[in-house]
Amino acid sequence: MLLTLETTGPEATKLSYLLHKHPDKVQSFSMSFGKVHVYYPKYESDCAVACMLLEVDPVGMLRGAYRDSDFMLGQYVNDRPFVASSFMSVAIAQVYSSAIGGKCKDYPQLASTPFPWTARIDSLATRGDSQWVERVFEPLGYTVSTRCELLDSQFPQWGVSPYVPTVLSKTCLLSELLTHLYVLIPAFDNNKHYFVGEEEIDKLLERGQGWLASHPHKEWIARRYLRGRANLVRSALERLIEADASNEPDEPPLAEVANSPAQDLTYRDDNKETPGAPDPELPARLNTQRYAAVLEELVACGAKSVLDLGCGEGRLLRDLVKNSQFERIVGMDVSYKSLEIARKRLRFDAFDERQRARVDLLHGSLIYKDRRLQGFDAAAVVEVIEHLEPNRLESLAKVLFTQACPKHVVLTTPNKEYNSVWESLPAGQFRHADHRFEWTRAEFQVWGNRIAALYGYRVEYKGIGSEDPDRGTPTQLGVFHRD
Ligand code: SAH
Repeated sequence: MLLTLETTGPEATKLSYLLHKHPDKVQSFSMSFGKVHVYYPKYESDCAVACMLLEVDPVGMLRGAYRDSDFMLGQYVNDRPFVASSFMSVAIAQVYSSAIGGKCKDYPQLASTPFPWTARIDSLATRGDSQWVERVFEPLGYTVSTRCELLDSQFPQWGVSPYVPTVLSKTCLLSELLTHLYVLIPAFDNNKHYFVGEEEIDKLLERGQGWLASHPHKEWIARRYLRGRANLVRSALERLIEADASNEPDEPPLAEVANSPAQDLTYRDDNKETPGAPDPELPARLNTQRYAAVLEELVACGAKSVLDLGCGEGRLLRDLVKNSQFERIVGMDVSYKSLEIARKRLRFDAFDERQRARVDLLHGSLIYKDRRLQGFDAAAVVEVIEHLEPNRLESLAKVLFTQACPKHVVLTTPNKEYNSVWESLPAGQFRHADHRFEWTRAEFQVWGNRIAALYGYRVEYKGIGSEDPDRGTPTQLGVFHRD
């Protein structure tokens, strides 16, 4: 199996320094899976080519550490010697360790100098996902050339080969190119020779730093890299959101992000609010009333495209989907787990093409700007703000009212005054363990008025649930309109 790196230009002969491999000889390295040889088939003043040849020994592996049914394909004969796989990643990390680490002993400045690269992977094992090669590499700035071929031209009925010769070109740092290959080759191959556990998340995030979080197909990459282990994928994606946030220019400092409440990421079902409360307004009933009230507002303002921000497990989305007024519906939540539940609740996987174009679920955080939220008529933010630390509210308001800036925002939050109506709720306690604050009607309105004035909205307040003469309704609703 071959990986070829080519660079051109007046500095081409610096390649051997960058790779820490002598240009005049073939060098061989023993690996657990066989051997790796590095040599230069071409080394001219304006063009240098380095080859990494993997000699994978499938029979040797049978006797050694890889007696793993996952890997084995049950045979002595398999594709491992002939494809770029996780072995290639191991070889890149070990044999090109300085280069992937961005170090160059003799010419340190070379490691931070972009070179024009062409990387050739003779046979990328795509497991039938060859159309993903472009989707994955192009957003990273590569010019991609792949060739899909029939498995056997004499037997077209066998279909196309899952093995795709791939050529990638880009001017960048060598460490960047090698890092992308390190992560993405095994994501395609998806047949890792080692056990995939928690530490693979660390590896993925470490190698993915600076590019994975903003990759439009980060979910696909994480899923494939972690071999579809749902809990690992979820945890990786949640950590990526935070990493992504820390790269935004408009940002709270990193320390603040690192300390950001983990609880933001896990939402316990709102129906569990005040369990057992002998309640003039039972929480479950209140939830239903709340979704109905929000829906009514969204319908009344004539919105055709709506966001459900902090959509949780998709209860409001389910109502939105049923209403044909809404032509475009997008739910977003920071909790990947909640989104998975929403997906099931909506029967998303059974959607036809038209429904898929109409409804989307996004993984993201409301306190960081996100262009995907732009251009909507209205946004619902239902029982979300009280899950954020108060010092995050300014960021949320800015994202919501200046970056997403829908024409209408329908926002709900508990009315703290009503809590004393629920006898089972000890005085001073929040309705939900994950609430960071709860507001009185006056507090909500002070905030709402200030935000509306600041961002050019007008706001009206309403109540949801049965009204107590002194303490108001259990839920308060603010409806913001951009003039
Ligand atoms: N709106 C839903 C869920 C409310 S619970 C409903 O009414 O049914 C609060 C939700 O806000 C949770 O799903 C939680 O994951 C989400 N959330 C908390 N912080 C968030 C943030 N920073 N960005 C996006 N969603 C967030």
